[in-house]
Amino acid sequence: MKPRTRVNHPPAVKIPDDNRPLVAPIYQSVKFTFDDVAESQRQSRGEREGFQYSRVSNPTLRQLELTLAELQGRDACLLAASGMGAVSLALLALCRQGDHVVLFAESYQPTRHVVRRVLSRYGVRHTVLSIEDGDALEATLAATPTRLIVFESPTNPVLKIADIEGITAAARRHGALTVLDNTFAGFHNHGLYDIDVFVHSLTKYAAGHGDVMGGAVIANSELIDTMRGDGVVLGATLDPHSAFLIQRGLKTYFLRYERQCENAQQIAQFLASHAAVARVSYPGLPSHPQHALATRQMRDMGTIVTFDLDSAVSAPGFANALRLFAISASLGSTESLVQPGQLMMPRDLDATQRAWAGISDATIRLSVGIEDCDDLIDDLTQALEVH
Ligand code: PLP
Repeated sequence: MKPRTRVNHPPAVKIPDDNRPLVAPIYQSVKFTFDDVAESQRQSRGEREGFQYSRVSNPTLRQLELTLAELQGRDACLLAASGMGAVSLALLALCRQGDHVVLFAESYQPTRHVVRRVLSRYGVRHTVLSIEDGDALEATLAATPTRLIVFESPTNPVLKIADIEGITAAARRHGALTVLDNTFAGFHNHGLYDIDVFVHSLTKYAAGHGDVMGGAVIANSELIDTMRGDGVVLGATLDPHSAFLIQRGLKTYFLRYERQCENAQQIAQFLASHAAVARVSYPGLPSHPQHALATRQMRDMGTIVTFDLDSAVSAPGFANALRLFAISASLGSTESLVQPGQLMMPRDLDATQRAWAGISDATIRLSVGIEDCDDLIDDLTQALEVH
């Protein structure tokens, strides 16, 4: 073989069947080939296993899909290039013109954008409620046939706990599907509830190291099968290298999440007893209005701690004074992060809805990492003293 041919057809390296790599390799290949055209056609018709093109399916992505579906207690998963890719895919695939969607003020603003600014252009209607108002949800579902209820728990950033049994029962009564963005609570929470579709930003706890983005839609296969074709053509595909990094991140998912929860609980207790702190919202504190519901509904209380500073303390000044908590969007990394309310204002909501969302100029959201908790508390102490 001449060099110009060889570099395009490198020698195949065969690994014996009894000698496998311990870590599955990255299938960093867009295309897959068959020895025989007829076999390729059979695979396209779904008559045999195999892969053709990575936007449709890829072994590295397949492994991650199977892992995530099992972790969340469902049997199928679709991956996307980011959490918002997953949210958009689920909502686009599930809604038709004329459908009605219920959303909540206590939710991630870009998710509301997909419904209110994108789907609305295609005739999808919506209502924004407060996650705390079960009566309003019931009344809305009774008055308006509803396709989807899209919600989060704990909510971002003030950590209200959705009454999942109440919401899923109301959805069943009125023929709506539920979509739970389970990013905050993680794959090990909420799987036992009657949720139709979970979405996750894998950018957070799954990947865990702040160096890769991804998203997942997880549901039972009948529902995923209705979305898969749309996902393939919408094209927000996760690339194999990102899928590999997320699969690797998952190895320490439980260790990280558990440690982050322990740190978050200690930090919440510390803040609750500090004179410069007006109010702490952490579901693991008995003072949280839904502590009993959270304890029933979740295995652990999450890694985010949100609090309001006393009026004498400036939230941006406090965030600037922190040395270990980086001022940064996102959450769920190994390192601790801080966001003041000024960076999280929900500008798409009216005054009533903004009050439900509960973010003020005094609000601080901490994404607690895996560092030594004494160091984190020392850092918070000095920043609270400076201001
Ligand atoms: N859902 C929630 C609850 C989030 O907090 C985020 C990001 O912060 C997303 C979805 C979007 O995820 P991504 O940034 O991976 O698109």
